[in-house]
Amino acid sequence: MTEMPHINSGGCVDQPILRERGQHEVFCGLTSIIWLHRKMQDAFFLVVGSRTCAHLLQSAAGVMIFAEPRFATAILEETDLAGLADAQDELDREVARLLARRPDIRQLFLVGSCPSEVIKLDLARAAERLTEAHAPHVRVLSWSGSGIETTFTEGEDACLAAMVPGLPRGDSSNLLVVGALPDVVEDQARRLLADLGIAQVDWLPARRSDAAPQVGPNTRFILSQPFLGDTYAALERRGARPIAAPMPFGEEGTTAWLASIAQEFDIGPEHFARVTEAPRERARAAVARATETLAGKRIFFFPDSQLEIPLARFLARECAMEPVEVGSPFIHRQITAPDLALVPEGTPLSEGQDVDLQLDRLRAAAPDLTVCGLGLANPLEAEGLTTKWAIELVFTPVHFYEQAGDLAELFARPLRRKAALHLSPNTPGSARGWPLAGQPS
Ligand code: SF4
Repeated sequence: MTEMPHINSGGCVDQPILRERGQHEVFCGLTSIIWLHRKMQDAFFLVVGSRTCAHLLQSAAGVMIFAEPRFATAILEETDLAGLADAQDELDREVARLLARRPDIRQLFLVGSCPSEVIKLDLARAAERLTEAHAPHVRVLSWSGSGIETTFTEGEDACLAAMVPGLPRGDSSNLLVVGALPDVVEDQARRLLADLGIAQVDWLPARRSDAAPQVGPNTRFILSQPFLGDTYAALERRGARPIAAPMPFGEEGTTAWLASIAQEFDIGPEHFARVTEAPRERARAAVARATETLAGKRIFFFPDSQLEIPLARFLARECAMEPVEVGSPFIHRQITAPDLALVPEGTPLSEGQDVDLQLDRLRAAAPDLTVCGLGLANPLEAEGLTTKWAIELVFTPVHFYEQAGDLAELFARPLRRKAALHLSPNTPGSARGWPLAGQPS
């Protein structure tokens, strides 16, 4: 078996975490609809919310909104908010209209928002009623993507957790991989797992509702994303057993992730080495190219997606970067333990956000690279800091061996661009000083 780091102790596992509450700059969970609707090909996401929610989805989806996407917002009007109209009746009518127009829909998700929560619209009850009305053709489920309850990727967690109770029961000894990944990445992982000899691999979410995975006492599941705490708990309640592992980022993360599965399924070390040797080598070589730019650079993570801890682990161990603060919207100690064990000891960790205090720490640290949201990136660039937009890390294929080089490149690119513009990182105001024609460069 490949040499496995001891994954539940050491590193930052027992380290205190700075917990902050205050002004925060993050997306709400509705944003996760953007990638979920692409993954689940016969699902539709109906947000029950306000114009603000509709505008958020439009701007987050960018050009995708012109491709007849499988999501929409049922906008609560003033009469609904004042309780003058029966919002439940109106919802029933809207859903009937939608399903008549889009007969390809097999799963309908009613997605709660801040306004629907504030007026206490019972979407769970609506989902039950609508399932009865439209069975067996369509199954209706509900979850909340409101900013009050969820931050960004937690929307996916809420969606998958809502699906777990309805998954068919089965007794077969299957491996369930949990987390929505781009199809091409999922296919790569499936090939690796098949080559290792694991007979039945299922995925949550499945691409189509008729391929929903079975769950039972012989199911072992592993997360491919760190932000799936509620789904993890829901699967345990169904009797499935979790496999602990670092997230499959980079060569080391992917190898450790696969090795944890291999150990659980009694796969011999020689066979494991044979299957993984070539892709490991490719991944190492691809990462090494970006490491020339990244080595020795100091990186600061603002909280965004919960991917921050595994990414800091990858960048520290495989790209020789130094994390100066790793902020995460939420830290699930149990799920992140294998990654935390590999983050350099003493790395400052923070959970939640008080954005002004965090900006003060950022300026004091003056890192080479800051990973942050779109709202902070340009102002920080104008201060002379080099930034990486965190949202790209969620939308770009970054998992497993073949993407390891691309993942490292995402961090190397802003540093190279800065160098190419002859700007000295960390010089306040330097970003405003674009090289002028005729100036010596
Ligand atoms: S759910 Fe809440 S935070 Fe998200 S867009 Fe709607 S109002 Fe804003």
